[in-house]
Amino acid sequence: MMNRRHFLSAAAAAFALPLLGQKTYEWGGPVLDIHLHLRPNGESNVAHMDGSGVTRAVLLSRVQAAPEAKALAEKHPGRFVTFVSADVTKPETEAVLTKAIHNGAIGFGEIKYQVACDGPEMKRMYALAADLNVPILIHFGDVPQASGNAVFNGGFKRFNSMLKQFPKTKFIAHADTFWANVSSDYAYDTAYPSGPIKPGGISDKWLSDYPNLYGDMSANSCNNALNRDPEFITGFLARHQDKLMFGCDCNCLDGRGQGQTNKAPNIRGKCVARATLGMVQKLAKPEVFRKIRWDNGTKLLHLSDIS
Ligand SMILES: [Zn+2]
Ligand SMILES: [Zn+2]
Repeated sequence: MMNRRHFLSAAAAAFALPLLGQKTYEWGGPVLDIHLHLRPNGESNVAHMDGSGVTRAVLLSRVQAAPEAKALAEKHPGRFVTFVSADVTKPETEAVLTKAIHNGAIGFGEIKYQVACDGPEMKRMYALAADLNVPILIHFGDVPQASGNAVFNGGFKRFNSMLKQFPKTKFIAHADTFWANVSSDYAYDTAYPSGPIKPGGISDKWLSDYPNLYGDMSANSCNNALNRDPEFITGFLARHQDKLMFGCDCNCLDGRGQGQTNKAPNIRGKCVARATLGMVQKLAKPEVFRKIRWDNGTKLLHLSDIS
């Protein structure tokens, strides 16, 4: 017969067992990072997640590196799912991406090439994403920046025609042109506008109008929007609480800002994941924060609950 002390320790062990390997949740619950690029040393991806309080991440890689991404995901069960990208201007890309999806990737991204967002190359990708029933994560950059000095998926102003033409495609919008257009007075003169947001921007409107459009909250582009007008953003987060998903696109080493190379004032020396999670936690109601950090992404990507 079990004495009281044995009973208590057995009960404690039983209670502790499901928690093995899990830390307490720094952000009040699990966090899905929908925008983490595969690093040359995959363990650095894990270090970044552990350091910033991220439970699970969407690992983005070029199709050439998809085997490395898959191996990392298999080495760390429950931590990763993978998206792939390939040069949309190449004729073989549809076949290459289809194969990658059959090999276990669950989305296209990050799609960042020097084409028009409504050109023939991207239309092919939108149709393929719908056929394979996977989301497509797109970098919208209409204003050339110091890093890369080019336009990627240009012509964002016309993107609503794609949202209409491809109703079955799940679009995840990312980067500076998407976030700058939260404000209706965006002049396309800088990638990271400052000052108060003027209501009625096309990104805001399209998130309301099109059920197939989602917002990726990663990088300086989103963090800049959060910081330039917190009052407006509080309403924006509430309005699109079922469409926005946290992501980091951070290049710091430890999930705490070490090695951050981006010099933008909001994130200089900081981890973008921490900076953005902190802002959203502050500006959104707890249930909205929960949707943004976990529910929306896991639902869109059909990830089973791993808690
Ligand atoms: Zn990007
Ligand atoms: Zn970081």
